[in-house]
Amino acid sequence: MGRIRVLPDQVANKIAAGEVVERPASVVKELLENSLDAGATDLRIEVESGGRRLIRIVDDGCGMLRDDALLAFERHATSKLRDVKDLLSIATLGFRGEALPSIASVSRLLLETRSAEEPTGTRIEIAGGKMLRCEEAALGGGTAITVRDLFYNVPARKKFLRTEQTELAHIASLVTHYSLAHPDKRFRLGSGPNELLSVTPVASMKERVYQVFGSQILDDLVEIGLRERDLFLPPPSVPPSQAIAEYQSEPDEPPARRFRLSGFFSRPQVQKANRNSIYIFVNGRLIRDRLVMHALTSAYHNLIPPAAYPFALLFLECDAEEVDVNVHPSKTEVRFRHGNFVHDFVRDTLRERLMESRPAPSFSPAPAAMRTPSVQPAAALPYSEFSQMIEDAEGAEASLRAAGPAPAEPAGEVMPEYVLRPAVGPSPRLDFSAPPIEVAPGPPPSGKLSSRRLDMHGEFPPDAIPAPETSLSALSDLRPLGQIHESFIIAAGRDGLWIIDQHVAHERILFEQVLKQRAAGRVETQRLLMPLILTLTPEQQIDYARIADELTASGFETEPFGNRTIAVKSAPAAVPAPDLERILFEILETAEGEMRGASLDDLRRNICASIACRAAIKINMRLDFAKMEWLLKALAATDCPMSCPHGRPIAMHYSTREILKAFHRM
Ligand code: ADP
Ligand code: MG
Repeated sequence: MGRIRVLPDQVANKIAAGEVVERPASVVKELLENSLDAGATDLRIEVESGGRRLIRIVDDGCGMLRDDALLAFERHATSKLRDVKDLLSIATLGFRGEALPSIASVSRLLLETRSAEEPTGTRIEIAGGKMLRCEEAALGGGTAITVRDLFYNVPARKKFLRTEQTELAHIASLVTHYSLAHPDKRFRLGSGPNELLSVTPVASMKERVYQVFGSQILDDLVEIGLRERDLFLPPPSVPPSQAIAEYQSEPDEPPARRFRLSGFFSRPQVQKANRNSIYIFVNGRLIRDRLVMHALTSAYHNLIPPAAYPFALLFLECDAEEVDVNVHPSKTEVRFRHGNFVHDFVRDTLRERLMESRPAPSFSPAPAAMRTPSVQPAAALPYSEFSQMIEDAEGAEASLRAAGPAPAEPAGEVMPEYVLRPAVGPSPRLDFSAPPIEVAPGPPPSGKLSSRRLDMHGEFPPDAIPAPETSLSALSDLRPLGQIHESFIIAAGRDGLWIIDQHVAHERILFEQVLKQRAAGRVETQRLLMPLILTLTPEQQIDYARIADELTASGFETEPFGNRTIAVKSAPAAVPAPDLERILFEILETAEGEMRGASLDDLRRNICASIACRAAIKINMRLDFAKMEWLLKALAATDCPMSCPHGRPIAMHYSTREILKAFHRM
């Protein structure tokens, strides 16, 4: 790496200004990027108290010369950029020359570094931006940076930090994903005495995915391989005489820019509640990008519900001139020079790979337990239907394009680092092969409307219209009439007609039941014949440690079982055994992200909701009358019969008044 220089003002002024140090994970990100830029192949990160007390990164990169080490703490001092035109093609992760001075101004920082070009190294100590010490030191090659007591001198900033666990999870997620982007390097992450991640160099990204997530996840993923597409630029406009001369001497194709896409993304049956499992790297840089995100979601258009998200690890490589990284101070956003081209390349590639990987034959209403935490299984989807959907989606998009510009995500919906949407399970698709309606051969409705007041002309005397019912009391004497599509119960009530979603109704009943059992400390459990062994990611490991007691209290007997592995020995009796693995990952997923700051009560309710969702009767399931009656009674007895634990409505009501109005009888 070249020598460090302070950027001239006219360059410095062109750099996206702003704060880079928001939280411990942003310090780790900047230091990690510096180590990678320095060509390190072995990166060791240690943190204490979620990075608040200590962050230490040791690398075996090129190190710094003595003079450079001092200069590195000046604002806009960088070895990665010289002049304005370099800003157009940035090949390194860093370029702003601001990270080290910014970090040093809000912490106690120790830099130890030695370049191979010098016989001794340098040790520099800075606190709150003030140089305390700078001395020659006998050091090995590479760089070690120790950051202690982050924000010790800016209490206002310290207040905004989340819990140690949350900050640690952000760090773990970051390091994990950088390790995925660099399978040829060694990464270790330790938190106090605990090793959270340790991966040795491997030859392929697939092996790294295996190291980080375990083997089972690979079954749920489609590997992109390496896909390329060339963008042909129009030839530069040159004077006609010269153009003719060039044409004669060099009858070449117009200049092309090559884009490459590689990585992994999930099959449609993996459905996640938020975007936390989508990682996009552009030229090795982890970014949040709406354009690529939109391309990804349009590749899944009609394949997964709009509220669900896939797992994706995408690596896009292109000429440095094709992407402007100087957009945001934390370098997490980019601007593509040819955005439409990039969008279509990503979308088409993913869609092609989805088609080629023929996910359909193995689809079943209850797919084998998935390694990745997911929301709910997609229902059976024959391949023919699957490809038809893709064609439809393409057709729909083509017409959209013809109609105007590509639909953008709603403004303001920039991908936050951690979004937690309520884990609304995408509904399994209805199976329309079932008879549309089944009517009960049961007793004739005893309702007060049945025959009595309809006179000869069919007039309905106004005084016969029942008073609108409050939903709670109304539910208590519903009579089931039958099912439609073996999914929705049709019932008559004192005031009109009701349609009840059988799955969510049962979910609500079970949810309250499980919650009550949990509160009374009497959760019915079943022992597994064989313990179920699960491999966790470093992030899940952190969440697991935090919620382990709550899991036990909810009926999941688990214990740590070696490195990032847990053994599940028993589970709540209500949970069907094949769903156990998925449910546990689902619980870990909801425990993730912003939920880390949530209360124990929220966590408990989430666990109960997951159990209830798995144990509840499904749609496309025939119910006999006794079951329907039981279900409606039990629903009426719940505290909150109108919405499921995820917030979905349970019942639709057509009041007598509405029915009469619709038939022009009032
Ligand atoms: P930037 O990365 O934008 O150049 P930084 O403030 O992060 O700015 O770093 C300033 C300079 O310090 C870098 O340009 C680089 O020359 C040097 N540097 C920082 N970290 C390391 C490291 N781990 N190994 C070698 N050099 C480093
Ligand atoms: Mg940097």
